[in-house]
Amino acid sequence: MDPGRIFFLTVAFATHAVVGVALARGFTGVDQRTGTGFGIVFGLLPDADFLFPAEWGWPFVHRGITHSLLFALAVVVGVYAIRRTREAALAAALAISSHLFIDSLSLGIQWLFPIRTTWSPGLDVHGVIGTTLWWSVSIGILAWQTDDLSAIRRGFPRDR
Ligand SMILES: [Zn+2]
Repeated sequence: MDPGRIFFLTVAFATHAVVGVALARGFTGVDQRTGTGFGIVFGLLPDADFLFPAEWGWPFVHRGITHSLLFALAVVVGVYAIRRTREAALAAALAISSHLFIDSLSLGIQWLFPIRTTWSPGLDVHGVIGTTLWWSVSIGILAWQTDDLSAIRRGFPRDR
């Protein structure tokens, strides 16, 4: 694999993880560790299809079954069955949905699997502008929701 492709994939994976973490931590009631872990794992999970052997063929190809609403629903139901909390299921749902949403804007995904549909607006979501936008919004969400700033303020009180 050429260095340009490795760089592109690294940035794309990091972006999916950061957006997943921001949504899981920013908009659910899970603790920070769970939000971070779920954001990374479920934000990246659809791309586990890179690991499928080529001879498996459709739908076990990149942007096949793991990039579908059916797969996302199965994952969220599975998380709920294991964790038994709505917040954990919501964190997984937000993270995996963010991956599918971002991918659907570029080359398209199989939203309606098993019906084959690949329409997309063809946006450069992992280019410089797209990446900057995803990271800025994600860091904004994390900064907005963090408790760390108040902890820092407590450490350095103004009126002492
Ligand atoms: Zn993907």
